[in-house]
Amino acid sequence: MTAASLRVGVLAVQGDVREHRLALESLGATVVPVRRPAELHGIQGIVIPGGESTVIDKLLRAFDLFDPLRAALRRGLPAYGSCAGMILLADRIVDGTADQQTLGGIDITVRRNAFGRQVDSFEQDLAYAGWSAPVRAVFIRAPWVEQVGQQVEVLAEVAIGGVTHPVAVRQGALLATSFHPEVTGDHRVHRQFLDIVAERG
Ligand code: GLN
Repeated sequence: MTAASLRVGVLAVQGDVREHRLALESLGATVVPVRRPAELHGIQGIVIPGGESTVIDKLLRAFDLFDPLRAALRRGLPAYGSCAGMILLADRIVDGTADQQTLGGIDITVRRNAFGRQVDSFEQDLAYAGWSAPVRAVFIRAPWVEQVGQQVEVLAEVAIGGVTHPVAVRQGALLATSFHPEVTGDHRVHRQFLDIVAERG
């Protein structure tokens, strides 16, 4: 199956929806903005963009999308979450708001706004599993991963103060990055996601 025949959703309730749409379309996929439960039908994968995870969580519930999307993920719908999207796909959050929920699916604990106020936005070249050229990782008030379950593959890590933290992970058909590849013009993460979607048919 080629990317051109793939139909993927981009969750379009808040955040940098447009950038993900452009990245996916540049790879030949057909993109469906998802705001209503019915729009989940017929998509083969979904991207959950960066933005503000607390707001996306509230809007998912307000739009009656939270439960259907969670059910679709549990049934195996491939998903890629960037930044706030990584938080939404994490099973556990540190420093979430009191009522914040996640869709879950990836057996990780993420720390929200992990890099702190001093360095809340920065970029760095990082090694990425299986790639010869590094990825330019743009972090914007990003989470990092504090704990990973046995099923989780760590694809990239960042070192802060001598301690490394995973910032790209995969568990089955679920992929997540703390950083924002959609703003760099390097679409290898989106291509990897479309390869996962194609594999799952
Ligand atoms: N800090 C945001 C949150 O908690 C994530 C930031 C982003 O997606 N760029 O959701």
